[in-house]
Amino acid sequence: GGFQSMGLSYPVYKGIMKKGYKVPAPIQRKTIPVILDGKDVVAMARTGSGKTAACLIPMFEKLKALQAQTGARALVLTPTRELALQTMKFTKELGKFTGLKTALILDSALHENPDIIIGTPGRLMHVIKEMNLKLQAVEYVVFDEADRLFEMGFAEQLQEIIRRLPDARQTLLFSATLPKMIVDFARAGLTEPVLIRL
Ligand code: AMP
Repeated sequence: GGFQSMGLSYPVYKGIMKKGYKVPAPIQRKTIPVILDGKDVVAMARTGSGKTAACLIPMFEKLKALQAQTGARALVLTPTRELALQTMKFTKELGKFTGLKTALILDSALHENPDIIIGTPGRLMHVIKEMNLKLQAVEYVVFDEADRLFEMGFAEQLQEIIRRLPDARQTLLFSATLPKMIVDFARAGLTEPVLIRL
């Protein structure tokens, strides 16, 4: 099956076509249907596999049912600011036709009621404390490059972020490797996750 058999809405499909993708990458073929089904997912995938679109495509589908603005509905955590910036640009391109607003977790952009916020755990905790940012409307969470999130020393912030997130949420974790630390984190922060390997 191609992207057209995934039951995607037209604005999401159009973004994929605009990017020039012909067929889903293997990680996308495996994860998108499971995420669309509402399940939490732990996916072993490295950079270059197409993992970013694998979590963004179902995220757009989930968020497209617009709600009264009560705060960001999706949170994407990355190990570095550079990756956050890259992911924000990619989210804006791929989600171009969805009408969803994306912002980096920086003080200024957060004032414009974004639907999707992207940044590092350190930056997020800073903004939570300094700006009293609330995560109460977050229903979709992505831990991108989770092994690197831990390598960068974000373990404590990650635990604190998990504690502040609503229980009713869908959580996805992408990691190139699955050391015990990540497995333990996934056990605590995800609900009966489906494990996907390539
Ligand atoms: P990532 O693994 O998320 O860093 O993505 C690696 C690259 O693959 C990015 O430049 C994407 O634009 C590209 N990509 C993602 N999905 C597809 C696809 N289905 N077909 C072709 N290229 C893709």
